[in-house]
Amino acid sequence: MKRVENINTLKYIGKEVKVSGWVGSLRSHGKIIFVDLRDKSAVLQLVFTPKEEKIYKLAQTIRPEWIISVQGQVKERPKGMVNPKVETGKIEISVKDLEVLSEAKTLPFAIDTSGYEITEEKRLRYRYLDLRRERLRKNLIARQKVIQFMRGFLEIEGFIEVETPILTKSTPEGARDFLVPSRTYPGKFYALPQSPQQYKQLLQVAGIEKYFQIARCFRDEDPRADRQAEFSQLDLEMSFMDQGEILDLIERLFIQLVRKLLPEKRISKIPFPRISYKEAMKRYKTDKPDLRRDKKNPDELAFAFIVDFPMFEWRKEEKRWDTVHHPFTRPKIKDIKELKKNPGKVLAHQYDFVLNGHEVGGGSLRSYKPEILEEVFVVMGHKKKEVREKFGHILRAFDYGVPPHGGIAPGIDRFMAVILNEPNIREVMAFPKTGDNQDLMMNSPDEVSEEQLKELYLKIVKPKKRKR
Ligand code: ASP
Repeated sequence: MKRVENINTLKYIGKEVKVSGWVGSLRSHGKIIFVDLRDKSAVLQLVFTPKEEKIYKLAQTIRPEWIISVQGQVKERPKGMVNPKVETGKIEISVKDLEVLSEAKTLPFAIDTSGYEITEEKRLRYRYLDLRRERLRKNLIARQKVIQFMRGFLEIEGFIEVETPILTKSTPEGARDFLVPSRTYPGKFYALPQSPQQYKQLLQVAGIEKYFQIARCFRDEDPRADRQAEFSQLDLEMSFMDQGEILDLIERLFIQLVRKLLPEKRISKIPFPRISYKEAMKRYKTDKPDLRRDKKNPDELAFAFIVDFPMFEWRKEEKRWDTVHHPFTRPKIKDIKELKKNPGKVLAHQYDFVLNGHEVGGGSLRSYKPEILEEVFVVMGHKKKEVREKFGHILRAFDYGVPPHGGIAPGIDRFMAVILNEPNIREVMAFPKTGDNQDLMMNSPDEVSEEQLKELYLKIVKPKKRKR
């Protein structure tokens, strides 16, 4: 017999079905044993009576979190026993056959609670059990719905989803790279992408015009409580669209997404306010203002765009100018003459996407004239010759004709955490790392064998004092 998901048993009243899942709570009433069977779709009540003697005996041995499969008849519950709080609350299965598929030890923590009360270390060590928790399962489902919606919306808008490499070359996005040693080319390294920035721009040179990707980004930043070394973005890049058109597209996407998937939420202001960086700093003292009218209301979403960021900021420690966003950002034409003399005065076609006081994305129009891009690198302290060496690939590509283009990358993890009212992004990721970048479940990072190091021509110089 083919297994039916719990939720679908509602369609089989009076008929025989086979269901499978995890044992939730167990109760006996007199001689009758009630078992809550949980699967990904719903919880379903199983009823065992002494009438089926062999099965009844086996049922007496089962324990919470064992995995079982049963066959039986779907029956309507007697009137007084209907539970309106459970989706399958008006039916139960009168069990005729039971098979134990897998036994389970007692779990290290409760999974029928929210989980906030358990130390995170323990939850992450046993993440596969933690994920059995209803809250986390719902979060993963919500995340999948959001991603599906984005894909559907963008396909209708004419976007093409393109995967870009994970083994790539260092891209300056302002963080440290994760490096991967090459076995074939001793002493050389790949870098994991801090974002697909250069690839998505090269796809514009290639004529893709409208690119998107649910992209994984890797940044080796110092541990911070609410950051992850790898995270996901909805990465977008498009040709021939100006800043206003790009922001309009994002606004449309998020309004439709909220209306379709989050009907209980209220968007504070449509169109989303577009506030200059200067004004935001003056009025709110921050470039990610929380514009909710009522900050206690969990169902209010205040989106905004912060625009007209300065192109450069002065790095005191390094005594040099650095870009506020990244070097590919296009300076405003009217400020270009200031590039050499007065970089601090130059504004950029750069925008941040803000939600309830969090930065949930950023992007910019890009410099598509090679000489301007080169100039930006020079302002950042690179020598002209060095620029061709490091970024020759993109400058060379631009020599073959490049449409004006720009993009943006809303972060998926932060957005999910905000809409699900979660205190941090780990609650909306399946397998996050701890705040200090460890995967406690897999025990990673871990040492590797001498053999592996040798193959890569690497030697470990042990730090004197273990630095994190
Ligand atoms: N690559 C940028 C980032 O990850 C986004 C963009 O400029 O499109 O922040």
